[in-house]
Order: sequence, then C-alpha cells, then structure tokens
Amino acid sequence: MPTFEVRATDLAARVGYLKTKSGLVETPAVLPVIHPFNQIVKPSEMEKIGYSALMTNSYLILKKSRAVGQLFEVHDLLDYKKTIMTDSGAYQLLEYGEVETTPEEIINFETIIGSDIGVILDTPTGLTRNKKRAEETVSKTIEAAIRSVPLFKDKSVLWTGPIQGGVFYDLIEKSAREMSKLNFDVYALGSPTQVMEQYDFEQLLHMILAAKRNLPLDRPLHLFGAGHPLTLPLAVALGCDLFDSASYILYAKRGAYMTESGTRHLDDLKYLPCECEVCARYFVEELKKSKDRTRLLALHNLHVLSKEIKNIKQAIYEGRLWEYVATKSRAHPRTWTAFKHFSKIREYLEEGTPIFKNYGLYLCSTPDEHRPEVENAYERIMENIKINKRTLVVYFSKTNDHTFLYNLRNAFEKKIGARSEEIQFCVAPLPIAIVPIEVCDIYPFSQYDISLPLDLEMERVAIKKFKQFLSRHKFKEVLLIDHSNGKYKGVVDWFTKGKVVQKKRVVTDRRTEFIVKEFTDLGVERP
Ligand SMILES: [Zn+2]
Repeated sequence: MPTFEVRATDLAARVGYLKTKSGLVETPAVLPVIHPFNQIVKPSEMEKIGYSALMTNSYLILKKSRAVGQLFEVHDLLDYKKTIMTDSGAYQLLEYGEVETTPEEIINFETIIGSDIGVILDTPTGLTRNKKRAEETVSKTIEAAIRSVPLFKDKSVLWTGPIQGGVFYDLIEKSAREMSKLNFDVYALGSPTQVMEQYDFEQLLHMILAAKRNLPLDRPLHLFGAGHPLTLPLAVALGCDLFDSASYILYAKRGAYMTESGTRHLDDLKYLPCECEVCARYFVEELKKSKDRTRLLALHNLHVLSKEIKNIKQAIYEGRLWEYVATKSRAHPRTWTAFKHFSKIREYLEEGTPIFKNYGLYLCSTPDEHRPEVENAYERIMENIKINKRTLVVYFSKTNDHTFLYNLRNAFEKKIGARSEEIQFCVAPLPIAIVPIEVCDIYPFSQYDISLPLDLEMERVAIKKFKQFLSRHKFKEVLLIDHSNGKYKGVVDWFTKGKVVQKKRVVTDRRTEFIVKEFTDLGVERP
C-alpha cells in the first residue's frame, strides 16, 4: 500500500488513508494539538472519541530534554500508541521571533523521539502585508527544507514540507513549486490561522488553491491551525486532507461552546444542543457552574469536530459534498462568500467529482447551477449532440418525470407517421440543459430535483442555455409545452418575446390532440 491511498473523491476532496509507522490515519482528519507536558484532555480520551492521530510540539520536548538531561519517546510521553505528528517550533518562531535550535537539530530530534509525522523547522509568514518580509520567510523555509532533506534517513518517519507565503498567492505558488521538488510525504499550508480568525474564508480559499495547484496530487495536504466546524467542510472540499488545531481547548478556556454552525458562549446558552457524553450528562446550568468546565467544554468541542469530520467523509462517499458545503456555508455570510466562489473554480473542483452518482442532483439556489456535474452535463449535451431537424418540441415540467413526453412522441408517430422523424423531442430540466429525449434517462437528466421557480441568477443561466441550444441547432419551428404551472414563467416569457425562432408557440394544455393541432398549425402539413 502506498503511503497515501485515496478511496473516494468528490469536488477536490478525498477520503484516504495515510499509512504511518503507528497505523492508518483515515483522512480527512483533525489532529488535536496537545501540550507534551500539560494535558487537560488526555490522549486516551481523545482516542475514545475517535481520534487516530494527534499533534504535539517537538520543540517544547527538546527544551525540556535539555533542561532535565533526559530523552523522551513521544508515544510513551503522551501514553498514546497511534499516530503522532510533531510540529517543529515554527509557532514559537512566529510568536517570539526566534527559537534556540536549527533545522538539522529538529530533524534529528523528531526522529529520535519517534515521531510518526515530522515537520521541518519552517519560518511562518503570518499575516504580514510586507511582501519583502513574506518573501524572506518563503526563502528561509525552502533553505531549511534543502538542509533537512538529506537528514531524512529514517524512512519510517513521514516528513512534512510547509508551504509559506501568507496572503501573497504568487509566493504560495512559488513556495509550493519549490517544495514539491523536494519530494515530501506530506505538504502543509502555513499561516492561515489569522486569516481564519478574521473569517476571511475567501482569502483562505485562494491560499489553498495557490498551494494545491502546484503540489503533487498523490500527497496529502495539511492545513495548519484549522479546527473550526465551519472551516473544515470548505477546506476539505478544496482539497485539504489533514488539520491540526488547539481550538477545542483554546475555545474551552474562554467559555466557547462549538456547534455545527459556529461557536456560542456557554453563558449565552439556555440549552446544550448536542448529545455527546458531556452534554447528555449535564444540564446547561450545571455545566456553567462546574469546576471542571474548561475540561468538559474541551471534550464537547472535540466531539463536535469529530462529528464534523464524519459528516464530511460520509458526504464525500455519497457524492453529496456540494450540498453539504452549501448547507454548512449558509451559517455565516463569510463562509457563503467563499462558497459562492466555487462557481468560478469549476474546473478545479470537477477533477474529483464523479460524473455519475448514485443520487439525484439537488439544485436549490445559486450557485448550484454552476456545480461541476451540471456544467459537465451541459457541455456533454452541447458538444456531442448535433440535431438536424425541422422542428423542436421542448417540454417544461415541474418534475423529472418525462412520461408525458414519451407518450406524446408515440401519439405523433401514430398520427403523422414518418414525418414525426422531422421532430426533435426534448425535455428542459433547466438550468441544467435542454436534453433530447433519446438521452434524457442518462444521469443526471432524469435524476435531479430543482427548486422552482428559479431564482434570478439561475433563470439567467437557464435562458442563456436555452438560447445557445436554439442558435446551435437552427430549428425552423419550436413548440414549447409548459406543464410547469408557471414555475418556469421567466424562461417561457423570454421564449415568447424573443426572436431566436420565428415560428413558435407555447401550449399549456395537457391533451395530446390539442398539442398535435397546435403543432400542425405551426406549418407542418396536417396529417
Ligand atoms: Zn456536546
């Protein structure tokens, strides 16, 4: 088995397995960050909740080792047998400006203490707006990487190459390109914590894209310091596989209670909207007054993050990640802003999105009409099908049941015989596409559910597609059958008023004889 094996994908997300010397880590995964010598929640408790990997800080262990003159084995130290990733002191470098170690010493030290996934001593960019300073951090990190790689002698340790550049996308790109030449097992994007604290998820999206587009796809991407239930779905959908975060404990210390849609202050809660072991055991007032409050909140927060990851993985397997991210993103205008940008990166998201899925597409509101499956389906129709017929019968319906159109086609065949071959019957599940009846059972043209009437942007896209379809195929006459009870009114009005086809008619009647009559009135000889 390769070190990282992908099992399922949707959008740019994947469910995978990362193999370390201490076991398998199913990704996406959040690694709770714990202090090596002071833990409010024990690693064994984290394991019970379902965490199969943790993150701790090798630099703090190094300092302690020097102070007490003793070496530690990190699994023994934490009393945790599963995967342990060790950070290198970069955080301390960002906080205090310097660390008393070298890239070489940290690599050797992480190897000696038995780390499963090590990180080289990088120089975090942070949120600086000073490009020169940012460039320096990128250069220093690359230089540290070049010095570190020859020391990767113990092949059982996986090594992480951090990508820096802060908010400068060109620097992130450069950093990713240079680091990918050094063949790390894992890549990591640094410095997003402050961007996330400012809820600038759109910027986070661009940072992730800048890194991902320049990294090898067969390696996992770690996002440093991301542990918020709203950030995770977005970041996973964009291709991040691993996360580490101390948020569960930092939030708990200030009384913040995570929920699926964000955080609340415990003091503001009248109920505990969760069924984890903590919330099931305590009433809200008890929890507020408990002497153990920080610890209990931390445990709850860990449950919320664990559940979030499970929901994301399930959504990837089901091929419903788009819907899941859309639902989650609705919780905050800034996450929604980032999600709206998904419509502009369709090609990036398309690569991992299966063309055929086991469930129907749901189109609720913008930007659902731009989801990769819809754009892809539309292009397949426009590129592969050339119709050379005189007449178009296009059928608008409220549902994805096309039986009426099949029956109508049979009726035409009976009544006008061979001349019915001059008619192209199509269904119109707009904003997906106008679809010839011959292929309308192919996914997703009968496997969808659309919220009608369309919102304005969806309607604009629907009209654009209708127009493109008509100008591509040059029908002489078009009969539009509107059985949508006015739900497609905007599109039908456009068609009625438009000049794309001279001979056109709209009927809302359900009687086949009536439709055939309207059709013959368009100009085709009466049978
Ligand atoms: Zn809970």
